[in-house]
Amino acid sequence: MVIAIDGPAGSGKSTVSKLIAKRLGLLYIDTGAMYRALTLKAMRKSIDLHDEKSLVELAKTTKIELEEKSKLHVFLDGEDVSIPIRTPEVTAEVKYIARVPGVRHEMVALQRSIGSKQGAVLEGRDIGTVVFPNADYKFYLDASPEERAKRRLEDLVELGQKANVEEVKKDITARDESDMKRSVGALKKAKDAITIDTTVLSIDEVVDKLLARICR
Ligand code: C5P
Repeated sequence: MVIAIDGPAGSGKSTVSKLIAKRLGLLYIDTGAMYRALTLKAMRKSIDLHDEKSLVELAKTTKIELEEKSKLHVFLDGEDVSIPIRTPEVTAEVKYIARVPGVRHEMVALQRSIGSKQGAVLEGRDIGTVVFPNADYKFYLDASPEERAKRRLEDLVELGQKANVEEVKKDITARDESDMKRSVGALKKAKDAITIDTTVLSIDEVVDKLLARICR
């Protein structure tokens, strides 16, 4: 079984996807973490983020693995980068990597190969539209920009980072815009996806809504 969960930053995708995967005994695949890992490598190697050819070459020669222990761990060429991929610096630069067609081609192939080996819940921006257009279930989670900023701020505080809600709101609005406007793999709702507005819902309520659709 493949479950696709798309939506903008802070819509609740990660928390909900993890819980759904756990409940159903499926693999959880955080596709944003893959784009983040590649961005981290490009930054460390001082690759010009406008140099598409070098970025595609980087994507082709990089090993990205996900491993679930008590939490999801992300490995970049064997190194656990679960923490450094979440810094504001990486978050700000992912858009340059995510807009390159050749890079997306590599990432999508990797996501398909992991997802089709066994059942999986994949979360991202283009899962229901590009990665698994024939997914068994497709959901599109959304929430108001204010609520999404509040949630992202909580995530950042938990990671020990400083930020204020207005800054975070500005960042996620800018990120939404570049995610929605890029020419490949843009963030959009698949025609056959079920939309859930999570603004006033608790995590458990969102999980229950999804499970009710999946298990009926
Ligand atoms: O999900 P997360 O916020 O960690 O994703 C970070 C960035 O990775 C997104 O803003 C987006 O630009 C990119 N991304 C993507 N396609 C996906 C998942 C994430 O382009 N399937």
